[in-house]
Amino acid sequence: MSLTRRDFITGAIGASIGCVPALAACSPTSKTSAESETNSSETAATQGTSYSFEIPPQPIEESEIAETFEADVVVVGGGTAGLCTAVSAQQSGCSVILVSASKAPVSRGGSNHAAYSRVMEENGVPRYDVDRFFRKEFLVGGYTADQRKWFRFYNNSEEAMNWALDVIEPYGGRGILEGSPEGIDETDPMFTPVASHCFVDDEITSPSIGQSILVNALAKTLENEGGSIYWQNIGRQLVRGGVANGTEGRVEAVIAEREDGSYAKYAGKKAVVLATGDFSKDPEMMEKYCPWAIPTLVDVDVIDYDIGLFNGSLMPGDGHKMGLWIGAAWQKNVPNAAMIGGNGVNNFCNQPLLGHTGLMVNIRGERYSNEFACGALSNRNALMQTDGRTFMIWGQNYLEEGGPWYTYPRSHGDAPVSNEQTQEKWDKFVENGAWFKCDTLEELCEKLELPKETLDTIARYNELCEKGVDEDFHKDAQYMIPIKDAPYYGFENSVRFLTVLGGLNTDQYMRVCNAKDEPIPGLYNVGTMVGDFFSSVYTFMAEGSNYGACCLTFGYLTGKYIAENE
Ligand SMILES: Cc1cc2nc3c(=O)[nH]c(=O)nc-3n(C[C@H](O)[C@H](O)[C@H](O)COP(=O)(O)OP(=O)(O)OC[C@H]3O[C@@H](n4cnc5c(N)ncnc54)[C@H](O)[C@@H]3O)c2cc1C
Repeated sequence: MSLTRRDFITGAIGASIGCVPALAACSPTSKTSAESETNSSETAATQGTSYSFEIPPQPIEESEIAETFEADVVVVGGGTAGLCTAVSAQQSGCSVILVSASKAPVSRGGSNHAAYSRVMEENGVPRYDVDRFFRKEFLVGGYTADQRKWFRFYNNSEEAMNWALDVIEPYGGRGILEGSPEGIDETDPMFTPVASHCFVDDEITSPSIGQSILVNALAKTLENEGGSIYWQNIGRQLVRGGVANGTEGRVEAVIAEREDGSYAKYAGKKAVVLATGDFSKDPEMMEKYCPWAIPTLVDVDVIDYDIGLFNGSLMPGDGHKMGLWIGAAWQKNVPNAAMIGGNGVNNFCNQPLLGHTGLMVNIRGERYSNEFACGALSNRNALMQTDGRTFMIWGQNYLEEGGPWYTYPRSHGDAPVSNEQTQEKWDKFVENGAWFKCDTLEELCEKLELPKETLDTIARYNELCEKGVDEDFHKDAQYMIPIKDAPYYGFENSVRFLTVLGGLNTDQYMRVCNAKDEPIPGLYNVGTMVGDFFSSVYTFMAEGSNYGACCLTFGYLTGKYIAENE
């Protein structure tokens, strides 16, 4: 197949490429990418790629730099990924500088997947079946996930998790295991292994919210052991081959904008590591790389580099852009995966992390799926319905027949909650207006603004439940509970956005690569921005895979790798 320049740019070879830098990288002479852009007769618009983030800004001149700092390793980003890399590199003998746009360490949630650890050993939890679990994860993404990375994670996550426990323990932290759905056979496609680790201390005792314990301990460790952290420094451009936004040679430094508007250069003799989180705050990047998740985004306008627990959009993709401008390629798999959840996960489920398993209908009142699916997958399917709108319906008899009921989040081994507690929770959602509770199904449909055909759907669902066989969508008989006793409950599902995953073309050692999969000398990335780890949708079939794999395990390994190989 012969490729024209346009074919190459628009991705006819099947890879999505950061266009201008990728071409500039092929040019025989060393130029900045901005020069390449100016000299080219084709603008981004004539190339058919009109996204402004693809056009490198004017390079920051050496004369504009107020101060220069130097270390073996410079890490850009103060979240879990950046901090793990920084501490690991330092403990492996490197001098380290971490620069972050945030004012302090950033974290959200707190589920960290690891295949095994001393916490699992202490709790008598076995290592899970790697083959079964990983194949399931790969299948969800149509086998587009990079298996080199997944198995490197699996093979090293125990060591990395035990190291993280060593980091938090001097600061009063400890590890616990998060509860996984119970009563699901290991052979079932929706089975989730017990492997999510959470950090707790005297103040934070609940699972799944303690990531701050890890990031704060990492930041203190870094500084106590001689590393430097510069907060409120926004990385703006990389220096490659001696020039800002250069497209040839080694990546030597990052130029950051400080609080007073001045520029500082942070030079990494061995490596510069990008760890700037996701790109959900950049509407153009979302349009190009993850359009399917756009309806779930809120608050894309205000950039807050310290943003914590928030279901909207997070970071503006600065690291991704800096990488593209100096010749990095985008990951091969587009659209990117996103992490989404829905009401079913938190508000009403008879298994934690599984969505609602009662009847789900779309805006026309049609049943559209086998409802027994992990929350993220079921919500991805919900987004395929007209206007992405779906509704959940059940009856009072579910309280007795639908349990056991659990809280979310919960620790491994926690007993189910009582039916009374569950009823209280239901009533609270009704009281605050999130759910409807009605004496008749007609009234419920009216409140949900669903058409009268919904009543036929409910009748058909009940008929199948009575038969004990779901002839329409083949849901497991144990979840076929008729909607028979009043009062009846219902609410409109809302799909919540957590983060968009992936970005730059990355090899298994976290080296950022060009379109030919060649590592760009001196440049690494870790965390959410690592390309081609996740594909399709974040499944939640192993809770905390992003923290556990891309941030913790790869952060830990990358620090060591740089120390040993650069
Ligand atoms: C409500 C919620 C709960 C979540 N819970 C979990 C969970 O339990 N488990 C899980 O695996 N995932 C969870 N996630 C996803 C989570 O956001 C990521 O897993 C995680 O934050 C990724 O860490 P990171 O270090 O890659 O990026 P981030 O945590 O986003 O850190 C990025 C850092 O880079 C800095 N930065 C950005 N741009 C620049 C720049 N130009 N220059 C310098 N610094 C910059 C930021 O200020 C920040 O310090 C959750 C997300 C949400 C919204």
